[in-house]
Amino acid sequence: MLKAQTVKNENVTLSAKQKSLIAIASSTAKGNLLKLKVELNAGLEAGLTISQIKEAIVHIYAYAGFPRSIRGLQTFMMVLDERKSKGINDVIGAEASPINGDGSKYERGKAVLEKLTGVPEAGPKTGYAAFAPIIEIFLKEHLFADIFERDVLTYAERELVTVSVLSSIGGVEPMLQSHLKICLNVGLTAEQMNEFAAIIKSTADKDSMDKVFPQGNKITNDNFSGNVRLSMLVENDTTYNAQIGNVTFEPGARTRWHYHPGGQILLVIEGKGLYQEKGKPIQIIKKGDVIKCPPNTVHWHGATPTDAMVHIAISTNAGKGNVVWLEKVSDTEYAP
Ligand code: MN
Repeated sequence: MLKAQTVKNENVTLSAKQKSLIAIASSTAKGNLLKLKVELNAGLEAGLTISQIKEAIVHIYAYAGFPRSIRGLQTFMMVLDERKSKGINDVIGAEASPINGDGSKYERGKAVLEKLTGVPEAGPKTGYAAFAPIIEIFLKEHLFADIFERDVLTYAERELVTVSVLSSIGGVEPMLQSHLKICLNVGLTAEQMNEFAAIIKSTADKDSMDKVFPQGNKITNDNFSGNVRLSMLVENDTTYNAQIGNVTFEPGARTRWHYHPGGQILLVIEGKGLYQEKGKPIQIIKKGDVIKCPPNTVHWHGATPTDAMVHIAISTNAGKGNVVWLEKVSDTEYAP
């Protein structure tokens, strides 16, 4: 039957692996893929295996939906490719052991849930389970049997992931309350849960700092390569004679070669990127840098192949004319 997964945790504080699972779950659930990349790298460095991280992201779909999980898995694939190209060999780790399929899946799921809560389920269904009985069957058969029976993560690890997702998506307080109780029942301590709350709070604070300016919509025109988002902050007018936008470049993304008749100032507010004026070497630019690009000077800017970069782009003397777009920055020009 089921392996006993309820292990008393000897540590009074959360381990680095547990903290990483919490951070990975929260970024995946919120679809913050830039932050997720950072957390995935940190998780691997902390010693989580590829299988464990994969399992955590798969687990999340039961709480935040397939689209968030799949975006998370795609981001993880990208991170692993990047690490492999740097010569880092991450540990794959154990796959799930075969599941003993004896007995009805509903009963197996019910047994898992009873083990998680420590409370036997009895009596007629009430509330949503009576109103829409099929969802209660899906929960038992699929979430608590199919997913929780997989032994790649312990119950305690699954609960940390779950509580992280529930606190991140918000509006699900009844579920959050039940899962907090389950956490204590599967061996996590009250002290660890306080630490957990502090991590979630600092992540939330950091997110709100990251988003001083909105990221805006993805640019779909041909003047940029890769994934770039733009949010216009100030439109040009005759009073200020400047146009200001917040531009987010995902790793590998960049502009075409171009020039600005009135010049441009770039304020890098996040990450690491590249800037090059025609005929000069590529410059690495990073958070806090101010780049002045003189009028009519052919140049390009973007992220590095491995880091995202966000800059505020100020078109100065904007009345002198719009940006003039030239040829694409080839792969050899981008990564010589
Ligand atoms: Mn420019």
